[in-house]
Amino acid sequence: MNSHNSPELQVDIAIIGGGNAGLSLARKLEGCRAVVVEPQTPAARNYSWSFWHNHQHQEPFAAAVRGCWHQWKIVDQHSEVVHNSDHYAYLSVNACDYLTQCESELASTVELVRAAASDVQAAGRGATFTAGGRSYRAQYAYDSRQSTPAEGALKQHFIGWEIKTKTAVKEPHIATLMDFRVDQSRGLHFIYALPFSSHRLLVESTMISTTLEESAWYTAAIERWLALQGIEVDELIRVERGVIAMSEQPTSAHLPAKIGIAGGAVRLSSGYAFTLIQQQVNQLYAGISRGDYTVPTVVTAKLAWMDALFNRVLLANPPLGVAMMVNTAKALDGNSFARFMLGKASLWEWCRVILAMPKRAFLRELVRC
Ligand SMILES: Cc1cc2nc3c(=O)[nH]c(=O)nc-3n(C[C@H](O)[C@H](O)[C@H](O)COP(=O)(O)OP(=O)(O)OC[C@H]3O[C@@H](n4cnc5c(N)ncnc54)[C@H](O)[C@@H]3O)c2cc1C
Repeated sequence: MNSHNSPELQVDIAIIGGGNAGLSLARKLEGCRAVVVEPQTPAARNYSWSFWHNHQHQEPFAAAVRGCWHQWKIVDQHSEVVHNSDHYAYLSVNACDYLTQCESELASTVELVRAAASDVQAAGRGATFTAGGRSYRAQYAYDSRQSTPAEGALKQHFIGWEIKTKTAVKEPHIATLMDFRVDQSRGLHFIYALPFSSHRLLVESTMISTTLEESAWYTAAIERWLALQGIEVDELIRVERGVIAMSEQPTSAHLPAKIGIAGGAVRLSSGYAFTLIQQQVNQLYAGISRGDYTVPTVVTAKLAWMDALFNRVLLANPPLGVAMMVNTAKALDGNSFARFMLGKASLWEWCRVILAMPKRAFLRELVRC
């Protein structure tokens, strides 16, 4: 591939958005002229990305891992399901550390432009755009910018506190994935708590619903949950907040190929995206090395259909949400649950989950499909 002299800066590959997908791809590129355009510094994204994994030490994110649990639990008013897994760990990666590492590993031919791209237009398989006061033309382009979730669409939204606690956390070896003993009146609501050590805890109030709440609503839920657990805050270290779309992102022929969440690398029923993004980037890079620049689809049509059905049932029957989640956890052991969340469940594991679901609600939505 060659660059040419022209008023536009010509590059082989442009990546719009240097977040998880963009920088994970950019750090792999070598032997071509590339640009990655990202307005935010990694420090602006000081939050945690967590996911199931079974061999962290071979992975590029290993140095950014903040927590690792082989036990996790899901709790409601009536029961507590504790999973143990010998094959899988639930890992938490610090996004700022990971992105900083990716930026430091960029090849000398990969330029990082700390600016927002504008006037982005697809041009063949590439794009033209402006960024940082310059015009660019790329032969191939990948766009990881996400669209704002539509009004009325299902989304996962949350506020989290990372705190230093006054006394030791009771079970620092167990991650609380969902504790539903919180206000369920506005949607499916749970507390997510990751003990990074005996005195460090990330605690999030997470909602799955169509409407965002006032910040005070999430923080009141966090405070109530901490009080119920007898946990006193010694120091509030940082606050994280997020909104993850649980419906497909719009596509446009006028924009370059999408990657990351924008490119479908997300489980729409759970909002888990990290592992799928890594898979998509690894496969895309393998393709680029062979001369195939197509973005791979990492969520199979069957999985996307099942996730969409799950979300439709949830949207139509919010009060069933807690039972759907808790029954999924009860139907599976730790290894199966991790595989299920990773989208790698066997047919038998799928059958166990399907049998544990509220049949009428699913049949009603199936008929409407
Ligand atoms: C707070 C938070 C916590 C999360 N936790 C988890 C988790 O625990 N597990 C999990 O699996 N997933 C999690 N996710 C979901 C997902 O893993 C992350 O959102 C991840 O960052 C998605 O990667 P991405 O590359 O698709 O998008 P992003 O990382 O959002 O990258 C898109 C980038 O585009 C940039 N951009 C926007 N406009 C422009 C422009 N005009 N020009 C150039 N760049 C632009 C943005 O600044 C952004 O950096 C979380 C998301 C959030 C927000």
